[in-house]
Amino acid sequence: MQSEPQAFDRVLSSMCTDPHPAARDAAERFLATNPGDPGTYPTVATLEDDAIEQLGEIAGLDDPAGYITSGGTEANIQAVRIARERAGTRTPNVVMPESGHFSFRKAADLLGVELRVVPTDDDHRTALEAVRASVDDDTAAVIGVAGTTEYGRVDPIPELGEIARSVDALLHVDAAWGGFVLPFTDYDWQFAHAPVDTMTIDPHKMGQAAVPSGGLLVRSPDLLDALAVDTPYLESTAQATLTGTRSGAGVASAVAAMDELWPDGYRRQYVRSQNNADWLADALEKRGYEVADPTLPLVAADVPRSTFDALRAKGWRISRTGTGELRIVCMPHVTREMLASFVGDLDRLEVR
Ligand code: PLP
Repeated sequence: MQSEPQAFDRVLSSMCTDPHPAARDAAERFLATNPGDPGTYPTVATLEDDAIEQLGEIAGLDDPAGYITSGGTEANIQAVRIARERAGTRTPNVVMPESGHFSFRKAADLLGVELRVVPTDDDHRTALEAVRASVDDDTAAVIGVAGTTEYGRVDPIPELGEIARSVDALLHVDAAWGGFVLPFTDYDWQFAHAPVDTMTIDPHKMGQAAVPSGGLLVRSPDLLDALAVDTPYLESTAQATLTGTRSGAGVASAVAAMDELWPDGYRRQYVRSQNNADWLADALEKRGYEVADPTLPLVAADVPRSTFDALRAKGWRISRTGTGELRIVCMPHVTREMLASFVGDLDRLEVR
């Protein structure tokens, strides 16, 4: 059988990374377990409690509830579902910035919820005035992103919380990617900083756990009740997850990664990744490209399409934002040497 040849050495666009060795090992050991059936697999069910406890600590939530999802998409879908159930209107809507992840489109489509997309400002953060103008009595949730997929921006979460409260809507924060770097920054994004009700925070991104390992956190356990269905043939009585059988590998690897890395290992990684992003932004600026300031470890730069294509042809796994900028995510596997080699290729292309 062939394995994926990339080995991460030219991967600059992924939001996943090489799992920490302890996470890899734990994933393997729990590969044949199913936390969806806690009566049969009690050890992994206990590990899931540990995972939620740890995620709660990272996200500033004292008495955390939630579960390990298959990824950010599932967590976002479930958050919208909670909001819809709680809103009790026949015509619910959710308001999100245009920088919101496309998983919310899936959520809206599946759940029959109107998605109201508002513009971002010049710094790619949600435009608060537009959010205020979009909410109404049918608004089930206001969505803020803490670490956007394209520019790594953090929306003004406390202000979004005020707007959500003004119409009795929930505030959902999507920190799928940002959640494991933001604790080491000055941003207000946590449950402790704002009236956050639900949050997506994924161990399989900056958390260095194996795929599939996403995280859904809720401010209080009763919010999960909206998701629970009875489970007649299992020993447990109810299930709040979207999937039935789930990977114990994701749960165990999340716990292993967080045990190893929280907080010092993650802090060191954040500093390394941010330094790399700053270095790359500087290198691109010096070569005359327009670069969006990397406020988190993610660089977006206005590189011509032909150059982008030539770099891809050289084997670099890079991607583009919706408006066509080159986008590079400084994940843990992205080293300074990789970036220097990338810039070297860019220079050689420019010479010709
Ligand atoms: N939310 C954000 C901010 C993301 O960047 C992503 C993916 O990159 C997601 C949600 C979706 O996560 P997943 O691909 O794990 O479902």
